[in-house]
Amino acid sequence: MSESNSTAVQRVAHSDERVVTMPETTDTYIRQQLETRRTRLNTAIASAPASQMARFEELLSEVDSALQRMDAGTYGICDVCNDTIERDRLIEDPLVRVCLDHLNAEQRRALEGDLELAAGVQRSLLPPTHVQSLGWQIEYEYKPAGLVSGDYCDVILPADSDDGLVFLIGDVSGKGVAASLLMSYLRATFRSLAGARMDVHKLLEAANRLFGESTMAGQFATLVCGRAGRDGSIQIANAGHCPALAVSQHGVKRIDATGLPLGMFTSGHYSMERVDLEPGDSLLLFTDGISEARDGRGNEYGIEGISKWTQGKRAQESARFVTDCLNEVQLFSSGVPQADDQTLMLIRRAESRRSAQIA
Ligand SMILES: [Zn+2]
Repeated sequence: MSESNSTAVQRVAHSDERVVTMPETTDTYIRQQLETRRTRLNTAIASAPASQMARFEELLSEVDSALQRMDAGTYGICDVCNDTIERDRLIEDPLVRVCLDHLNAEQRRALEGDLELAAGVQRSLLPPTHVQSLGWQIEYEYKPAGLVSGDYCDVILPADSDDGLVFLIGDVSGKGVAASLLMSYLRATFRSLAGARMDVHKLLEAANRLFGESTMAGQFATLVCGRAGRDGSIQIANAGHCPALAVSQHGVKRIDATGLPLGMFTSGHYSMERVDLEPGDSLLLFTDGISEARDGRGNEYGIEGISKWTQGKRAQESARFVTDCLNEVQLFSSGVPQADDQTLMLIRRAESRRSAQIA
């Protein structure tokens, strides 16, 4: 298997320290999962054919042992190194007993296979890289740090031109397969909600409630959701994500987060901002893999860095804007491996022929 796969597994292992977790919520969730499995196994054992019996009993003893470790406070500790096991892996499989660093060769191959599969699914869920609709041009670049990304981005074309074009960019908690599953969950949620003609802050509130009611306890996502209308107006709501930058001839304006990440509190309220863009103006969105990119001395590129780079780039052609901005970040952190997933999206109001003539 290729070296890059092993590197991806390593990245999954080492990126966990940056994952913000909510231990109490996930402990309750994992305990419920284990108890449900115990009940199901007991039912299955009562009527199992002899050929299955040994395997079911073995699983039951693994479940019992996990519950005992939970009572004793030793659950989630690696059998080999006594370090904590990655929480998103415990959510995926509550019977896991070793950390990523201590998988055996067979387990490691299985994980690499899963990551490749997840990466393929994830690539197929991305929107086209160039979108033109309702007088808007959207360009983005999606650059995972490993095989799969915890970044989320989507563009939802309107069924009716009055609906507006919905765009989303976000970052989900956790890494690896769990993060890619959460990303596809968000994509499906927003795709089904987007047709309902809700204002974007109401969209976030509905998505947040659904998220809270789903089984993805303890995980959350920051994101920006916007809707661009034919008249140049953009509705925007931000759930704890990096600010959006509006680039116009008056300069660069920051549109900051107005709410908490999705999945933290199901009763969360969001507010909406409106910006009006002239032909040639743009809205720039990005994930923290870009704003938090570091140079060799540990300095952060920062939102200020992006904002500064963006000054005077208004006239830059969209695809070039996105590529140049990413190249600039790469140059800033040259020699330092990419630590986090990076996504950059530019939504530009196209120059109409008429306004070009007026100018
Ligand atoms: Zn270990």
